[in-house]
Amino acid sequence: METKQFQAESKRLLEMMINSIYSQKEIFLRELISNASDAIDKIYYKALTDDQISFNQEDYFVKISANKADRTLHVVDTGIGMTKEELESNLGTIAKSGSLAFKNENEMKDGQEIIGQFGVGFYSSFMVADKVVVYTKSLNDEQGYKWESTGVEGYTIEPYDKEDVGTEIIIYIKENDEDVNYDDFLDEHQLKTIVKKYSDFIRYPIKMDVTEQ
Ligand code: ADP
Ligand code: MG
Repeated sequence: METKQFQAESKRLLEMMINSIYSQKEIFLRELISNASDAIDKIYYKALTDDQISFNQEDYFVKISANKADRTLHVVDTGIGMTKEELESNLGTIAKSGSLAFKNENEMKDGQEIIGQFGVGFYSSFMVADKVVVYTKSLNDEQGYKWESTGVEGYTIEPYDKEDVGTEIIIYIKENDEDVNYDDFLDEHQLKTIVKKYSDFIRYPIKMDVTEQ
């Protein structure tokens, strides 16, 4: 399978995230939840103008689950999903709102401040992850896809038969080191605290499930 390279600016942002000494690493979850919520908003607005799509409130939610045994954190949404092209352009390049701040050369010098101040988006998951896998199926595509990256080396995209429209992001949580207890991001109590802190403005239910195996 072909490994694709990130756009140069994306690669710099990724490097910054991977080497980040920023203490508030938990904000990656705020970014993933807000993306999930945005994706549900998109399907909701589509349903308002398209009779073919019905929007049943109870079908739309974000689910966060952790598996301590394989050190994975899963963020699932029933939002609009991404086509292959959208995966390429949205997760392979920085073109979006929050990340635009990073384009400023001067600002890039003080990473710590930037991370606190702006939404840094999807790539912030690399502050806590060795690997990120995204399974997604768009409302506008029969075929689902799997996107995978271990960081600056690039990413791969392959077809993946996903049943439901929406996105599942799997964060492979780093091993603890002398500075950071990454186990926190697999702990039910810690996760609940983080989610509470950052989900005030989320209009959809956030479900949670933590298992030991
Ligand atoms: P921003 O949210 O500021 O646009 P992000 O880096 O957080 O920047 O996300 C980049 C883009 O990737 C989003 O704009 C969206 O198009 C796409 N994306 C990310 N997460 C999801 C998701 N869960 N469902 C659908 N699209 C997503
Ligand atoms: Mg975002």
